[in-house]
Amino acid sequence: MRDDLRELIPRVPALRAKYAREREKRMQARPDGDPPPVELRGAFADFDRDPFAQAELTRAPVVEQIDVAIIGAGFGGMMTAAHLHKRGIKNYRIIDKASDFGGTWYWNRYPGCMCDVESYCYLPLLEETGYMPKHKYAHASEIFAYCQLLGRQFQLYPRALFQTEVRGVVWDEAAARWLVTTARGDRLSARFVVIAGGVLHKVKVPSITGIDSFQGHIFHTSRWDYRYTGGGPEEPMDKLFDKNVAIIGTGATAVQVVPKLAAAAKKLYVFQRTPSAVGPRGQRATDPAWFQEMASKPGWQEERSRNFIGMITNKRPAVDMVNDGWTELLSTDTRRFSFRPAQRKLLELIDFRNMEKIRARIDAIVEDKATAEALKPWYGQMCKRPCFHDDYLPTFNRDNVTLVDTNGLGVERIAPRAVVAQGVEYPVDLIVFASGFETAAATWQLGIDPVGSAGVPMSKAWARGAATLHGVHLHGFPNLLLNSVTQGGQAVNFSYTITETARHTVHTIAHCLERGFVRVEPTRAAAYNWLRIVLSKLFEAAAYNASCTPGYYNNEGRTPRNLIAALRSAPYMGSALDWAAMLEAWRAEGTMRGLRLERRDHGPAAA
Ligand code: NDP
Repeated sequence: MRDDLRELIPRVPALRAKYAREREKRMQARPDGDPPPVELRGAFADFDRDPFAQAELTRAPVVEQIDVAIIGAGFGGMMTAAHLHKRGIKNYRIIDKASDFGGTWYWNRYPGCMCDVESYCYLPLLEETGYMPKHKYAHASEIFAYCQLLGRQFQLYPRALFQTEVRGVVWDEAAARWLVTTARGDRLSARFVVIAGGVLHKVKVPSITGIDSFQGHIFHTSRWDYRYTGGGPEEPMDKLFDKNVAIIGTGATAVQVVPKLAAAAKKLYVFQRTPSAVGPRGQRATDPAWFQEMASKPGWQEERSRNFIGMITNKRPAVDMVNDGWTELLSTDTRRFSFRPAQRKLLELIDFRNMEKIRARIDAIVEDKATAEALKPWYGQMCKRPCFHDDYLPTFNRDNVTLVDTNGLGVERIAPRAVVAQGVEYPVDLIVFASGFETAAATWQLGIDPVGSAGVPMSKAWARGAATLHGVHLHGFPNLLLNSVTQGGQAVNFSYTITETARHTVHTIAHCLERGFVRVEPTRAAAYNWLRIVLSKLFEAAAYNASCTPGYYNNEGRTPRNLIAALRSAPYMGSALDWAAMLEAWRAEGTMRGLRLERRDHGPAAA
């Protein structure tokens, strides 16, 4: 055992007790959990309004017969469309309520926004586009521009229906087609539908008492109002110099935005309920010579992406190609369950050691001792999403920044001109909600509730949980393919699992179109077998999560109301490399095992 781990052994009981106390503090603060977030309608509709659309669109309804309707124009939808394009399938439509491609990168334009996963792994299809990312970690505006580049290169724009909300997705058994209708009167009769609605899509605004009484300005980070703040994603905000600003939430988004707000505002109050764990970033510009050499090897991006996932999911590749905060922190997956007590102890020690480093970094950077103490996270390294940033902690040394630590209680209420915490009123002109997203939202909670072959909407059919093969093919919903985390792969690098899912999706669609199959659906047995595989991996993660401070990784520390449905709709929690390998092996087998395929004129073809 290494010395740094051995030295920690005497402190283990105290650390365990501290973690338990901090968890309990958060649990006791709200014994019944958070109330449901506000509905983004009526007085709250502005929270969800698109501030980026250039103009209101007018166009005639589109009435067409198409091969594929793709719902969502973020990475998931774009990757599906790009792979369709590569297979020569051009008769598709891609629909989004935004006015351009990008998904997350369309909506998130807040100052400081960037992707903390290395750009050479994160930006998809770099080999095809020949694009060289400007930095190791790409800024949001570069990623958005790259999405537009993909849209042009793969000729996606002519197939896009933007500023268009899907209203209905209904299966027509006789025609073996989906009818997709939209708020603009479109009627698309599609052989296949791909739902790629995104995971971090539905804005979450906590229902804090008095929120509707606030008389200043208020918005959510993913709908940033530059008209009010001045500046832009790459330019400093120039209208906040005389404003007092509150930011509510201290997750991965806040970590990026707080330094920018601090630099622009007269006064910034950061309202914290639970601190984030923030490690060093190490941003650097791309060295063109290095990039050219790396990119000269065919298959380099796939190799690098797989190496990254391997490093952070215990595959222990011989070389750490990415070599950053992620791969250092997660080079041992401490969530792994072991029946061997010595192994369990070792994993716990590694986790404690890593978090001690995070806490020591705070002491080294933050000058005010009380503020430093309040910023320390007391939970395991994968209880909440790890963050990496070099400017966040130093921001708390500025005179115009105050950390309002709410001791796990959260904001008490909002007054007409102030945010109130623990009885103290903080007068502010602007409130920014960095309060995240409704991550557990199912497709029907995003407004898409497909009606499947039994005439039953998904919200009912899946009331007791999902039924899929690989998280992609849906039992009861023929020709519908999902690009999400429901029973699908998950990884810190979302773009990896999204791209693998798109590849798999297009494999099925091309197979059916080329061979004349008009209907494809997984058998009940195949869906059941897949569920068993998903559940086998879930319990390992569940053991780790049980001791975590509340967050969206562990359903806010509470047993889900509908436990069965939650378990059955969980992601595949094993390594995304294992998940992708299963899909690849399945495709290589070539029998479409577990799918029932039909040619209408010839009857069922395979089972
Ligand atoms: P998070 O859900 O991570 O954080 C939300 C914050 O709001 C937390 O600090 C939370 O406190 C606080 N909060 C939520 N509800 C309440 C409430 N009722 N009262 C008080 N405080 C509340 O959202 P983010 O937008 O920060 O991040 C979401 C995800 O987006 C990340 O996990 C990550 O996956 C992704 N992301 C990725 C980035 C990247 O670089 N790749 C950058 C930014 C985001 P508490 O912790 O106590 O619940």
